[in-house]
Amino acid sequence: MSHFYTHDIPLTKKEDMIKITGYIKKDIKDSGITEGIAIIHCPHTTAGITVNENADPDVVRDMLYGFGKTYPEQDPAYRHFEGNSHAHLKSSTIGASMTVIIHGGKLILGTWQDVYFCEFDGPRHRHFYVKIMEG
Ligand code: ZN
Repeated sequence: MSHFYTHDIPLTKKEDMIKITGYIKKDIKDSGITEGIAIIHCPHTTAGITVNENADPDVVRDMLYGFGKTYPEQDPAYRHFEGNSHAHLKSSTIGASMTVIIHGGKLILGTWQDVYFCEFDGPRHRHFYVKIMEG
């Protein structure tokens, strides 16, 4: 048995990391599946899905800072006509999908972990998919 969900998320900043764990927990509850996996997928080429620390907001700040340092917004060697190559680089570094374990009806994450939707070329209206499979 499997279930499929789509979520819309309005983003307000050029770059941001938004916690989406609550959406996934609700989907798991609605699915009624107690043992299985959930795949979270982002269908945008300048965004991504990751898991990271949920306690100190400076971690998100420092991650965005670090990505910016690694992949500068402007570089005369970039050729992509849209001018957002830095966002495509960050998107592929983060990855488009994430798999999490469902056990005992719950999403298994570490105490300090949350699932984040990461945007690198906003603000845009975005969405992501959650596929929950029993097993
Ligand atoms: Zn582009």
